[in-house]
Amino acid sequence: MERLKGTTIFDLSQTGARGVAVAEGAVPSDPRWHIRTSLRRREPPDWPEVAEPDVVRHYTRLSTYNHHLDKNTYPLGSCTMKYNPKINDRAAALPGFSRLHPEVTDADCQGALQLIWELARDLAVITGMHEMRLQPSAGAQGEMVGLLMARAYHRKRSGDRTKVLIPDSAHGTNPASVTLAGFETVAIKSNKQGLVDPEALDHALDESVACLMLTNPNTLGLFEKEIVRIAAMCHDKGALLYNDGANTNALLGIARAGDMGFDVLHLNLHKTFSTPHGGGGPGAAAVGANAALAPFLPGSPIRRVSGDDGAEHYVRSAPGPDAIGSVHPFFGNFGLLVRAYVYIRTLGAAGLAQASRDAILAANYLRARIKHAYDVPHAGPCMHEFVASAVRQKAQGVRAGQIAKRLLDFGVHAPTVYFPLIVPEALMIEPTETESLARLDAYADALLQIAHEVEHDPELVNSAPHETPFLRIDEARAARDLDVG
Ligand SMILES: *Cc1c(COP(=O)(O)O)cnc(C)c1O
Repeated sequence: MERLKGTTIFDLSQTGARGVAVAEGAVPSDPRWHIRTSLRRREPPDWPEVAEPDVVRHYTRLSTYNHHLDKNTYPLGSCTMKYNPKINDRAAALPGFSRLHPEVTDADCQGALQLIWELARDLAVITGMHEMRLQPSAGAQGEMVGLLMARAYHRKRSGDRTKVLIPDSAHGTNPASVTLAGFETVAIKSNKQGLVDPEALDHALDESVACLMLTNPNTLGLFEKEIVRIAAMCHDKGALLYNDGANTNALLGIARAGDMGFDVLHLNLHKTFSTPHGGGGPGAAAVGANAALAPFLPGSPIRRVSGDDGAEHYVRSAPGPDAIGSVHPFFGNFGLLVRAYVYIRTLGAAGLAQASRDAILAANYLRARIKHAYDVPHAGPCMHEFVASAVRQKAQGVRAGQIAKRLLDFGVHAPTVYFPLIVPEALMIEPTETESLARLDAYADALLQIAHEVEHDPELVNSAPHETPFLRIDEARAARDLDVG
């Protein structure tokens, strides 16, 4: 393996090697399929010539270089890197789904329309919202949609509002979406407990505020206990309450954003609902609205109607007059919708609630196991994640980012570091429900051993990783000077 490091598929090329051999004459020659000579290549493409076993071995080897969920624990806070059940992929690969043509007629894609309709309905039940739409490609796009809906709502009702409030613990996409949607961001300071301070909120709320964006549980893994009061305060001033529900892993079957007073929200199906993501991979978000905001949802709603024969079928109807437009053509990132649907259906209501309870238990267990070695600034218990701080280790010359790198030597992924911004040297840990007790213990043991190393051999940590296929890379150059050759 060492010997092959850095080897590309082109390096393996050997003239004449073949993966698949098609017998001469196996494909009948039909003049209608002939490509005009003027359009043909003059030289054959410079493709690597590699036998099938070598192709498979090459890519299998490459897949072990990166960390991924099928390898080991990946407790990246806020990202919900839970194991993705393979049955989800199986269903998404069914030809009726994977080969669906975007321009297919409603009559010819009843299964897909039914799946989208049922998924939207299930998500509405899970979140307590009136209606869900499955268009956006990611959480950030879901936020932008929600904010454009808020703008359209205010414009229609009583005129434009200019400001959006967000707590200082918010995910970085929140202020970015606010700016994209044409609003001004006003940050609200969190109180000592890490929650929204109702007094600071009261001070900031006035008739120019379009909405307050909240993540609940927030990015510190803490539940906003005053959420009902916060909702009433917003509504009193005519402002809306937006839920950044990108990560809803603590709430399934336990609490619902709609019941808390949220007017509009987005969910990341690629987090809570177990569709694969990471490394910039695909995403899919759902946007939900209460009855007042529902007319502004984007895209074409799918309706279930009874036909003349009495049988139910599904149709795409035209967007209503208040819809903010469309943010994705056709079915959205449909393969991800299938995965989320299968995840919900295989777990069922009781299974989803159990997943959330297990996620909360796993986070609290890990928190309890490491809290004597690392600072944990906010009082527990936490929800599905918690934020530790490496300030103690920094005083000994080792920063959070180095602890993250040293963790890779233990065969596990690092937590999210340096976020949320309000915790210095933050280590944001979200183990998720799919890690067993043995894996949680192994993770805690690694963190404890690293804390011990910081005290006795800080250089060992500061020079990490030592065991990964590639050691210390130049992060800035890796991002800017892409060499994939
Ligand atoms: C991940 C996340 C987002 C952004 O989602 P993307 O799909 O990456 O755009 C927004 N808010 C929170 C709290 C998140 O965890």
